[in-house]
Amino acid sequence: MIRTTAGDIAPPEDGYVLAHEHVHIDLKSVRDGGGRQATVAEIEEVTLPKLERAAAAGVKLLIECTPPYVGYHPEAVHAATTAAGIALVVATGLYKDDHQPDWAHRAKEAALAEWMEGAITEGWAGGWKAGFIKLAVTDRGVTDQERKVLRAAITASKSTGAPIAVHCPVGANALVYLDEMEAAGLDADRFLQVHAHAEEDFDTHLEVLRRGGWIEYDLIGSPRFTDDFFVKLIRRVLEAGFGDRLLLSQDVCGYLVDRDPPFDMREYAYLFTDFVPRLAVSGVGAGDRDRLLRANPGRFFSLRE
Ligand SMILES: [Zn+2]
Repeated sequence: MIRTTAGDIAPPEDGYVLAHEHVHIDLKSVRDGGGRQATVAEIEEVTLPKLERAAAAGVKLLIECTPPYVGYHPEAVHAATTAAGIALVVATGLYKDDHQPDWAHRAKEAALAEWMEGAITEGWAGGWKAGFIKLAVTDRGVTDQERKVLRAAITASKSTGAPIAVHCPVGANALVYLDEMEAAGLDADRFLQVHAHAEEDFDTHLEVLRRGGWIEYDLIGSPRFTDDFFVKLIRRVLEAGFGDRLLLSQDVCGYLVDRDPPFDMREYAYLFTDFVPRLAVSGVGAGDRDRLLRANPGRFFSLRE
């Protein structure tokens, strides 16, 4: 079952899943003046039209990849996605070391694990339950604090079955996280390397997959990469026989608190209106497209028994 903000649901049997987007995010750390809160109405005004266009393109479920303390706003995101007719999964977990609150730096590993487990099983004060754990690792290498948070997440994943998605553009860091998970006896199937497309060494993509982890190409539609770049990467993964552990998404930031104007110009629907037709023309068949955009995220984000 997938733990959404409206209760547990079976993975969608048709339509699409957006595996990595943000309806609301604030990447300025609290120390740098982050934490500015927009109202539910302000967020809805900007994001609802885009979410409605995504729903019209077939999106049934959206994974909000904003973890606590970087603009985490389940109330507003739930209101906007629900109004658009899209189911929602929100995260527990923590972003990079320098974006974590002081209490998390002081907290023992066991207390952090309990905090994450509570978010998944009991829910937050607003009643929202988290359906996965979102972490992030500093590019130049995992810090002691991040390792402590990872070990806490592993404990929480083992007790709840929740998946762990890690912001991890550097492939070597993904392998360190897999080492930690394996040493703690957690199946690599619970690990997702977010932003895997940013790692230039394709062998590292394959290494994560060979070890049983998942990878995500999730900046589709951004001016930083062409569609052709992603089509080629996807085809290489399919040809290597790992099409059952690849996720695709766009990392659109619907309402970016620290930007002016506070939004991303990109569309949540782009993946389906523009990119999927290109993928089809390149020879990726309907079965593979369904796997990448519905079945795979449905499987990864299902809580393991
Ligand atoms: Zn993101």
